[in-house]
Parts: sequence; structure tokens; C-alpha cells
Amino acid sequence: MSELETFREEVRQWLEANAPQALRGRRNDPAAVPWGGRNPRYAYPESADWLERMAGRGWTAPTWPKEYGGGGLSREHERVLHQELARLELPPGLTGFGLSMIGPTLLQYGTEEQKREHLPKITGGKIRWCQGYSEPDSGSDLASLQTAAVRDGDEFVINGQKIWTSGADLADWIFMLVRTDSSGKKQAGITFILVDMDDPGVEVRPIRLISGASPFCETFFRDVRAPVGNVIGEPGDGWTVAKALLGHERSMIGGMAAPRVSLPELAAEYLGRDEQGRIADPVLRHRVAQSEMDALSFQLTVQRNADSLAAGHQPGPESSMFKYYGTELNMRREQLMLSIRDQQALGWEGDGYSEEELLQTRAWLRSRANSIEGGTSEIQLNIISKRVLGLPG
Ligand SMILES: Cc1cc2nc3c(=O)[nH]c(=O)nc-3n(C[C@H](O)[C@H](O)[C@H](O)COP(=O)(O)OP(=O)(O)OC[C@H]3O[C@@H](n4cnc5c(N)ncnc54)[C@H](O)[C@@H]3O)c2cc1C
Repeated sequence: MSELETFREEVRQWLEANAPQALRGRRNDPAAVPWGGRNPRYAYPESADWLERMAGRGWTAPTWPKEYGGGGLSREHERVLHQELARLELPPGLTGFGLSMIGPTLLQYGTEEQKREHLPKITGGKIRWCQGYSEPDSGSDLASLQTAAVRDGDEFVINGQKIWTSGADLADWIFMLVRTDSSGKKQAGITFILVDMDDPGVEVRPIRLISGASPFCETFFRDVRAPVGNVIGEPGDGWTVAKALLGHERSMIGGMAAPRVSLPELAAEYLGRDEQGRIADPVLRHRVAQSEMDALSFQLTVQRNADSLAAGHQPGPESSMFKYYGTELNMRREQLMLSIRDQQALGWEGDGYSEEELLQTRAWLRSRANSIEGGTSEIQLNIISKRVLGLPG
């Protein structure tokens, strides 16, 4: 048996012994994925135990070094772990901006002290993070941000406002961009800093959406103090760190395009099959085939990129291609699922719709937000044309 197959066997046995029954089959249920934090909320009580067990193995961050609470696995071993989790339809042990954004950035730019301080708390699900980039007048033109940080001895004193801060009302710490110098080019003089949300000067106001949900917030900073040791990289060189983090964020958002359900099976269920066993509606059949081919090509490209990251390559401007294509593909797919389910995809609440059908309407609407968060599709196209293709600006 190859070493990889031995590992698969070990994972399989461990999952059989440790994965809570209540979470098996809940892979597509967003409520089943733990976000951790100082005051964690669990839709399923078993999620707390699941997080602890997965963190104990280092499998909340399978490829991170063991000394920071990761699993120290290779990409191939990580793939096996994911396949085995998928076999039991299990959700991951943990999710969040710590794992997908600030953690990889700390691994790249953090000092040894910063890594030892923050990474184990991320992998253990002890601290929940949010992202303070956007401001009321600085979205796409992020470098124009105005939240100010003034040095006072060993601390920075922060004043200003962020907006669209996802999950700020639930987060324990924020990684944010502040202006420490206004004298030069707007990209210069930006500093990347970590701030404890428990500081009394931080005020969070959830933004209530038309759906009733409040996924993001306005976040205000009044004389908030953060030690100079919380700066990642050098003061004034935060734009470099900010772009690296966006690379991780965009790769993550692009990767979210992975199919939730099998399109051919869904189409057969709702549209029926013709006498040759094909999806009965020829127009939708063609669209399903096209979508499946596009998704497969994209997955192979994502895989190729993941292999190159494993070989030490850091995400650069090409992550914009993944962000752009992944989110556009996902929107087309959700739109197609809507066409397949027809009227059954138009429910918001009430009888007459299954749980999956009600989720469908929300997933379709949410997929549109993917093309805005982490930088809009138009901005990704600008980056691709300038920094990947080298076209004149
Ligand atoms: C679901 C979601 C979650 C988010 N979470 C966070 C978060 O946690 N933290 C955070 O900091 N921010 C977050 N954001 C904010 C997000 O980063 C911004 O919405 C995004 O960067 C766009 O900025 P804006 O909304 O100010 O739009 P604007 O910058 O005002 O853009 C408006 C329109 O103009 C277009 N446009 C602007 N400039 C150009 C240009 N140069 N060329 C071509 N077209 C252009 C844009 O593409 C867009 O269509 C989130 C957004 C969403 C939707």
C-alpha cells in the first residue's frame, strides 16, 4: 500500500471514530460549519466537539506548519483528507477569515512572535477575525482610505470608520488598513495593523438588509489603541501586505464556485428524462453540459494553481482571474439552477417549497455578492489587463 493510501486508511478510521453522527450528511449546510471565536455560536451543539477534535489533529489548517497548530500535511495529503470528509459528507472543522485570509498573510509577512501569538488561536478556533478594508468613500479605490493612525509612544491611536465589515458584530479581532502618512502617493503611508475588537473605542453597528439578515456592519474607531507590535510588515508598507491578503481572499472566493449539488441529477429530477435517458429539455440540457464542462476546466486550473502554491509560489495578480471566472461561473450556475427548478425556485418562505428550494433562492442572490466582495468583477478585469496581460492602463 502506498504511503498516501496508508494515510487515507488512517483518516478514514479516525473519521469513523470521531466525526459526530449529527454532522454527517451536513456538508452543504452552512449552519453546520463552526466559525469559532471567544463566544462561539453553534447551530449544532456537536460542532464544538467537532472543532476541538479536528483542531487537535491540526486538520483545521491541514497544510500549516505543526508548530502553529497546523497539520503539516502536503497538498496531496490534504486532498485525501478532503476526499474522506466528503465521503461522509462532513463539514470542515472550522471556517473563517483567520484561516482563509489573515493566517496565510501572517505565515508570509508575520514575525515569529506574531505567528506564535496568533496562528494557534486561529487553528484552534479561539479567535474570530473580520476584515477592515472598505470605507464609506473607499471601496474599489481602496488606497484612498482615510482611517488615521497616529503614533503615540509604543502605540498607534486609530480614528475613523470602516464599512461592509462582514461579521464584525461576532468578531474578536480585526485586521485593518490605516493611514499613517498622507504626504506622498496614496498607496504609500498605509499601514496594516491588528486590533482587538474589545477595545472600548470600537463600535459596531450591524447593517440590516432587506432580507432581514445583517451579514455586515459599520465599524467605528474612536481613539482605539493598538501596540506598534501589531503592525504586519513595516509601518507605511501596508499596501504590499494588503495586496497579498487580497490574493488569498480572491483565491478563496473564486474557489467557492465548487458545485453544491450535481447539476445533471438536479435537471433529471426536475425536468425528467427522454427515451434515450437524456435530460428531457434540449435547451436546458445544452446549458447543463456547457456549465459542467466550464466547471471542470475551471477546477483543473484551480488545481494547477494550488499545486504551484504548494511549491512555494505566493498568489499574485493572477488570483484575479480565479476570482473573476469563479464568481461569474457560480452566478451562471445558480441562474441555471433557478431555470431548472422554475417556479419552485421562487419561494422565500412558507409551505410548498422544500428546504433545498428555499436555500436555492438565497444562494442565487448571494452568488451575486461574490462578484462584489474582495473587489468587483470590473476591478478584477482591470487588474488582469494591466498586471497579468501587461496591457497599457
Ligand atoms: C458580501 C460582501 C461582503 C463584504 N465584506 C467586506 C469585509 O468584510 N470587509 C471590507 O472591508 N469590505 C467588505 N465588502 C466591501 C467590498 O470590498 C466593496 O463593496 C467592494 O470593494 C466595492 O466597493 P464599493 O462597494 O465602494 O463600490 P464602488 O467602488 O463605489 O463601485 C461601484 C461600481 O463602480 C465600478 N467601478 C469602480 N471603480 C471602477 C474602475 N476603476 N473601473 C471599472 N469599474 C469601476 C465597480 O465595479 C462597481 O460596479 C464586502 C462586500 C460584499 C458585497
